[in-house]
Amino acid sequence: MPARHYTFQIRHLLTVSALAFSSWIFVFASSGKTHNSAITLATADSASVRFLMGMAPSEKSMISVPMAYCSKSLQLQKTVWQAFLSMHDAAAKSGVKLTIISGMRDFTHQMGIWNGKYSKLAAKGITGEAAVRNILKYSSMPGTSRHHWGTDMDLNSLEPGFFLSGDGLKMLTWMRLNAGEFGFCEVYSPRSTGRTTGYEPEPWHWSYMPLAKQYLQQYKDKIGYNIIQGDPSMKKVSGILYANKVRIKEDFIQGINECQ
Ligand SMILES: [Zn+2]
Repeated sequence: MPARHYTFQIRHLLTVSALAFSSWIFVFASSGKTHNSAITLATADSASVRFLMGMAPSEKSMISVPMAYCSKSLQLQKTVWQAFLSMHDAAAKSGVKLTIISGMRDFTHQMGIWNGKYSKLAAKGITGEAAVRNILKYSSMPGTSRHHWGTDMDLNSLEPGFFLSGDGLKMLTWMRLNAGEFGFCEVYSPRSTGRTTGYEPEPWHWSYMPLAKQYLQQYKDKIGYNIIQGDPSMKKVSGILYANKVRIKEDFIQGINECQ
């Protein structure tokens, strides 16, 4: 090999190595930078994501509802409680008694309900997607429930039949006419209202929309199936791998009547 050519090769090799080295430094530096800003963003976002999924309800100001207004010890966001109290007093003037039977439920509570139902179905040989769809008629998958937000409540009875006559019908009729004035909405309204996906109608479930609307928007923006199926806590939820298949986000979380 001629000496000149050899020198060229060495020089070329050095240049290539230098370029490679500087690129490596650049990649290293920029990946470090990206990594750092990703951490900052994730920290800010993860607090709200954890709240939205019921994993940190204490992020918001929850208060214990006075026992005279509920059937058991429960919590709601303070703003929601105040709006409920006004509605409760107005209803009472019309002879309608409103009793809260469920308020804020955190992730762990909801997982107890969900995994309990899943185990019972599994004992009957129903598992996987079939079990998930069965539970989703009336119960939310943990991490996807509006009850996590402290904005939603169940009133008076969890029996659909209760609302068909007597006190139940009187209460439901009053609520449908007046609840909107106080910010509350029957989100799981009858199919006849045009709600074609999601949970079966729940005439007992009422949502305080001024806050809940904002949380739903944040949920849509921040939480995808990578989190729903990938979060370490979510992996403990029975049948979680079917969340995407049953379109939990599109059909259930978003399958509501918005009372607009
Ligand atoms: Zn409910």
